[in-house]
Amino acid sequence: MDACVLKFGGTSLQDISRIKEIGKRIIKYKKLGKSPVVVVSAMNKTTDELIRMSKEFSLHPDKRELDLMLSTGEQVSASLLAIYLKAKGYKAISFNAFQLPIITDSDFGRAKILSVNVDKIKKHLEMDYIVVITGYQGVVNDTRNITTLGRGGSDTTALAMTLSLGLKSCEIFTDVDGVFTADPEMIPEAQKLNTISYEEMLELAGGGARVMHPRAVLLAQKNDIVIHVKNSFHNNPGTLIKNKQDINKSIVTGVTYTSNEARVSFEKIPVSEHKDYLSRIFRMIAEEEVNINLIAKNHSGDFADLSFAVEKSDLIRLVHLIKLLSQEIRARRVVFDTDFSRVTIIGSGMKNCPGVAFKMFSALQEKQIQIHMISTSDIKVSVFVDNKDLFTAVKAVHEKFELSKGPYRGDLGSTKQAFTS
Ligand code: ADP
Ligand code: ASP
Ligand code: MG
Repeated sequence: MDACVLKFGGTSLQDISRIKEIGKRIIKYKKLGKSPVVVVSAMNKTTDELIRMSKEFSLHPDKRELDLMLSTGEQVSASLLAIYLKAKGYKAISFNAFQLPIITDSDFGRAKILSVNVDKIKKHLEMDYIVVITGYQGVVNDTRNITTLGRGGSDTTALAMTLSLGLKSCEIFTDVDGVFTADPEMIPEAQKLNTISYEEMLELAGGGARVMHPRAVLLAQKNDIVIHVKNSFHNNPGTLIKNKQDINKSIVTGVTYTSNEARVSFEKIPVSEHKDYLSRIFRMIAEEEVNINLIAKNHSGDFADLSFAVEKSDLIRLVHLIKLLSQEIRARRVVFDTDFSRVTIIGSGMKNCPGVAFKMFSALQEKQIQIHMISTSDIKVSVFVDNKDLFTAVKAVHEKFELSKGPYRGDLGSTKQAFTS
């Protein structure tokens, strides 16, 4: 039995004719003697539509009910695919997370997988079945509540499945040819990458590139599983996501963005009165389990200004608490800005190469784009810009590093050249 995990995203399962095409592709694997375990997302836009309907009744729908409803999208595509495969004369069976089960914690909307029971899958593979699994969902062990893993979470189901079956690679089929130097939908001249390291892919995904779910990449990295991202409808070679030792490091591998950023700014916090203000603010955010994308602090005299960035969708949970806290620590005022985008360049060769941030900033400066905040790590530089500048910023940075020719390895030139070129 030569098991393989194949994941098909919602963009590839748009309608009945696409499901047929995917079915044919799976049959090809079967004919080659493989035993496919297929993970599917909901059909295109189904999840969006389910969310939209729930919002007709409440801006913050009950999380348990929402997850129960969202899990149905994947059940439709999994069973439809199994019905097609059976109609073509193959043994096929679909399972949802509850039936296996895939056990998660109870964090509705962004649950973490704790274990995957693959007994039923192995049994059916041995009996020559093609097994189809619903992505994106799990079940809580004691309550039997259904959970979902966060938007794009079917990738994580595929990686968890690969790991639990003891396999060393998995294939992620999507609507583009692989991972590109930028979102090919926004920047048509973006180049497909043949390989990308786990750490770079993590930063790309964390910076907003939808093509892989960040937790899926983390799982692959931890367990050294090679991810092969491919086009669902062509036989192009795709992109391998794998261990960095095997890959020549580039200074800038890609540029990515998210337009879902919000900034919170506390102005004029009287520091001497509230020396513990930092721990109070960030304890509150940690207790709400919200990730912070950036922190900036200014101290002058007896006062401090503090800004931090979170995802817009997380801000809604925090607003009330932040207002209360702002009064408690007697900040002069607190301001919420929800009109930000974050543009990020990533490259694992960046850490040994001064001048990268400078080159990025000069690209933005040439287009008169205002940078509101900056955050860096060893292998990334992120800037926060106004939403209106997003497209121009991504394009300018992509051009500046000549990413349409592929990853940037080249000469940064002198800082003087970078500003004048
Ligand atoms: P699926 O339904 O297959 O899971 P997604 O919509 O989640 O597909 O991810 C694929 C999309 O990710 C592509 O259509 C593309 O527009 C977007 N994307 C964003 N950044 C990148 C990138 N750097 N490389 C490839 N695709 C990207
Ligand atoms: N259907 C879910 C979503 O749209 C999960 C996925 O596509 O991976 O986010
Ligand atoms: Mg996806």
